[in-house]
Amino acid sequence: MTQFKTLDDLTDIAGKRVLLRVDLNVPVSDGAVTDTTRVERVAPTIMELSRKGARVVLLAHFGRPKGAAVASMSLGPIAGVVEDVLDHRVHFAADCVGEVARDAINAMVDGDILLLENTRFHPGEERNDPDFATALAKNGDVFVNDAFSAAHRAHASTEGLARHLPAYAGRTMQAELQALEKGLGNPARPVAAIVGGAKVSTKIELLRNLVEQVDALVIGGGMANTFLAARGVNVGKSLCEHDLVATARDIETLAAKSDCALVLPIDAVVAREFKAGADNETVHVEDIPTDAMMLDVGPKSVEAINAWITKADTLVWNGPLGAFEIAPFDVATVSAARHAARRTREGLLVSVAGGGDTVAALNHAGVSDSFTYVSTAGGAFLEWMEGKPLPGVDVLKR
Ligand code: AMP
Repeated sequence: MTQFKTLDDLTDIAGKRVLLRVDLNVPVSDGAVTDTTRVERVAPTIMELSRKGARVVLLAHFGRPKGAAVASMSLGPIAGVVEDVLDHRVHFAADCVGEVARDAINAMVDGDILLLENTRFHPGEERNDPDFATALAKNGDVFVNDAFSAAHRAHASTEGLARHLPAYAGRTMQAELQALEKGLGNPARPVAAIVGGAKVSTKIELLRNLVEQVDALVIGGGMANTFLAARGVNVGKSLCEHDLVATARDIETLAAKSDCALVLPIDAVVAREFKAGADNETVHVEDIPTDAMMLDVGPKSVEAINAWITKADTLVWNGPLGAFEIAPFDVATVSAARHAARRTREGLLVSVAGGGDTVAALNHAGVSDSFTYVSTAGGAFLEWMEGKPLPGVDVLKR
């Protein structure tokens, strides 16, 4: 973290115009915001800057308007949501650049908070157009990025702007980067990774990167079937990408070369229907009936996974071990999650999780608060697990 400047380095901020990139891309259903987690995550940075007397100008995107103003993707209604979470007045300006933004910013007093309209209403945002970044930068003295979740994109408000103004990581960005450093950057060893979820096809890069970095890679979920099939196991009607067995074999070879233990299911909980409460039985993976599908890994597999969690000093987790949304196929995910949570609470494990359905799975297990860090960043978290550079982070190192 020493590579990045944080709010601790931002002295004499009173009266300055801080352009603060945040993630306000909250889920909406029938016009109502259904989850305010993202707003809550950035609230500490907003309020710290406001308390210090900065004029806090929020930059954010919302949805995919593709470079044009789309009324249904206006951040206008979100200003009220931010106001409720912060319990502080939040002003709104109907454009993020030009006269409208300038006038609203000129009207601010110290400590004020202003939300600017969706940055993606301008085509220059996603193109990272230098002229658009210049137009944004005109309205600020300092840039703070607190949107790790948007850091995998080189857009004007996540990357370009940091080339125009002194740039700092906000508190959420700082916490995320520190957690990632502990997870894979410079982890305590041994490191175990759990990768589950539906398909290998969405996680090839991630698997390739992990086998080179970790001491054990546990593969669960639907994707385990492809690895089992690659070993010649008949997985019956299980979700399986037969066209990817060669890729699975490559990853297994890479694991062996890298001294990474590949931990595949030993037994399986199988059913004939994908639905809650479906009749099920537990069988050895070699004995999956041809008309049945694995919907969870079995108890012997959980024992092996938990033994690795016990052995590990660090755990990185993405994806559920089974179809956790439909009981009883949540058992393995819940059991491993609770074991990891216990070890973390006892100070014996650093546990970092995130991406896709992982947050929902850990919430379902009731353990999110016990993990060292649960990232809600989605795509950026996955790209980090894939070992890809994150432009919005790299530019803060300049
Ligand atoms: P992902 O978004 O790739 O992490 O995948 C998560 C999804 O994988 C969840 O909706 C799970 O229900 C699903 N999943 C996990 N295990 C299995 C399985 N054995 N068979 C089918 N789907 C599964």
